[in-house]
Amino acid sequence: MNDSPLMRLTAKTLLCVAALAMGACGHSTAAESAPGAGSDSTARGTTAEKAAAPRGDVPQGAAILLRCYPDHVKAYRDGKLVMADGSTITYDDGRDKTFIEKLDDADPEDMFAFDYDMTTWTPGYLQDAGRSRCEALFKKMYGSSAAAVQKHLVTVNWFGQKLRFTSVNGAADSLRAVAAELARHPSLKKHLRSSGTFYWRQVRGAKRLSAHSYGMTIDIGVIGGGGGGDYWQWKNLGKGETARITYSNHMPHEVVEIFERHGFIWGGRWYHYDTMHFEFRPEILLNEQLKQTK
Ligand SMILES: [Zn+2]
Repeated sequence: MNDSPLMRLTAKTLLCVAALAMGACGHSTAAESAPGAGSDSTARGTTAEKAAAPRGDVPQGAAILLRCYPDHVKAYRDGKLVMADGSTITYDDGRDKTFIEKLDDADPEDMFAFDYDMTTWTPGYLQDAGRSRCEALFKKMYGSSAAAVQKHLVTVNWFGQKLRFTSVNGAADSLRAVAAELARHPSLKKHLRSSGTFYWRQVRGAKRLSAHSYGMTIDIGVIGGGGGGDYWQWKNLGKGETARITYSNHMPHEVVEIFERHGFIWGGRWYHYDTMHFEFRPEILLNEQLKQTK
């Protein structure tokens, strides 16, 4: 039994994605509850949106984005995501990309190129689902500058720490739900101390923004009773992004499973692992669940 927001979303979404594939999804993408369900309910479900979304030819990834981010992604039309402000983002730029290009220059379609395999605790070679982020999409949702992102930050009480986290897409509420569930497991507390959430910056040595820039990401357990955090570069000094590397983790899987139930992915499931890192990415989880049900 599971009644988390993500699971509720998933049950409905499975139906709708299946219906989309059959060309039968006639109702608004935004009318139902979602982890991203925010306050702007009046703009949802208009006749125009229904008319704008062609039936039957919406790529699964686009359908998932419509379901997970209903406040922002309003329709899919002519190969583009139509955003709440009327702007559009090309879903698939059609380019054949290297591994690094899928990270540095991702379109929305590339975000679904990697596996987030929840059936194993050992990530597959170069499977970095979630490290690929379409910057145009994330800037449009969370803010295109440090100041713009900061406008949406609210305080979340995290085991005595006051964390700043974005309210956009229901991310802060989801983090609060994670805290409430973790609080029922006192033995895990030593792994939970946070070393940071919002921080507008580029990924070191890369051309893309860190997920921490958007305010929907939290690092925990850098120093903890379980042995501290594990980061791929610390254990594989001097190795490049496509090298074969050694995996290491001290984060209890129970912590991971609680985060995942509320829409967060874990950096410890990345081939280029970062076991301190949890990021609000319901679309990655939903995509994986749909794969498992095929
Ligand atoms: Zn992080």
